[in-house]
Amino acid sequence: MKKHNFSAGPCILPEEVLQKASEAVVNFNNDNLSLIEISHRSQPFVDVIEKARSLALELLGLENKGYKALFLQGGASMQFLMVAYNLLNKKAAYLNTGTWSSNAIKEAKLFGELVEVASSKDKNFNYIPKGYQIPTDVDYFHCTSNNTIYGTQMKSFPETSVPMICDMSSDIFSRQLDFSKFDLIYAGAQKNMGPAGTTLVVVKEEILGKVERQIPSMLNYQVFIDKDSMFNTPPVFPVYTSMLTLEWLKDLGGIEFIEKVNEKKSALLYNEIDRNPLFKGVASIEDRSHMNATFALVDDNLQTKFDSMWQEANINGLHGHRSVGGYRASMYNALPLYSVQALVDVMQELERIS
Ligand SMILES: *Cc1c(COP(=O)(O)O)cnc(C)c1O
Repeated sequence: MKKHNFSAGPCILPEEVLQKASEAVVNFNNDNLSLIEISHRSQPFVDVIEKARSLALELLGLENKGYKALFLQGGASMQFLMVAYNLLNKKAAYLNTGTWSSNAIKEAKLFGELVEVASSKDKNFNYIPKGYQIPTDVDYFHCTSNNTIYGTQMKSFPETSVPMICDMSSDIFSRQLDFSKFDLIYAGAQKNMGPAGTTLVVVKEEILGKVERQIPSMLNYQVFIDKDSMFNTPPVFPVYTSMLTLEWLKDLGGIEFIEKVNEKKSALLYNEIDRNPLFKGVASIEDRSHMNATFALVDDNLQTKFDSMWQEANINGLHGHRSVGGYRASMYNALPLYSVQALVDVMQELERIS
């Protein structure tokens, strides 16, 4: 039986996506060739990447609004520097909500002056700062919509006149937002979309071309836009599998549908964390993530017992990140509600026998 997979990333993908992806590795399109041994410039693969790019824009409601979708390599971490390389002339503003934002800040400092508008580092990033000011003389504002490690999520985004850039790696396609408020969105595929190896970048083309420096081709968004994401060989398997996941999501009813499922899943787990006297939540309640729930045992002496119980219940990937400790249940789009129920059952069983 497939395990209940709460892995934070690489993460669970829909069964039918795994099935179709594995079939394509052996025999793609019934053409007696593998997806990973055909030319990326052959029509069957060009159709795949075109479909993936257009599905991404369609699901985000960004078609015909001046945005381009790209499938790049180097992970979300590459975007930390690529964003700055392409957009930072003199000064940029960053909101620091965790490890990933801190890494983005570190990279961007190589390219110009950084203003950290606010940080939640004082409480090990267990909340989202609010009420900060974004200077108007910056090239852009950068934020992280969901903090995978700490289990916090931005529920609203600031109003600003400068371009807004967002790392949505761990909650892209999970909830409805007005995505047209953002000028560039990026997301490593392996959290909510596909296997590791590609990063979705959705960029409003008009914000490009404004920096004075020379940009190497491989790091230049405009080069990839002009070549339809195919400046060099794209990661064909991650792109294909991402396309399958996006098709799966569209067939289910898109973000509008999956958001309701995600709300049910996180409500089920958070209700148990709050109700069960053996457990406590880590993130500040109003900022809790619907994707990654961080929690801990009140009494550490129960750890060995609890760990063996959830492992016996066929649950995988529940250990918290080393910088937070405790537990983290990642409930990405493909995780079924019954997997969350399985975890809640174990938590209740622990309460019953303790
Ligand atoms: C995982 C993660 C990253 C890093 O992604 P890589 O693809 O490993 O570089 C960046 N940002 C967020 C929010 C993440 O969850």
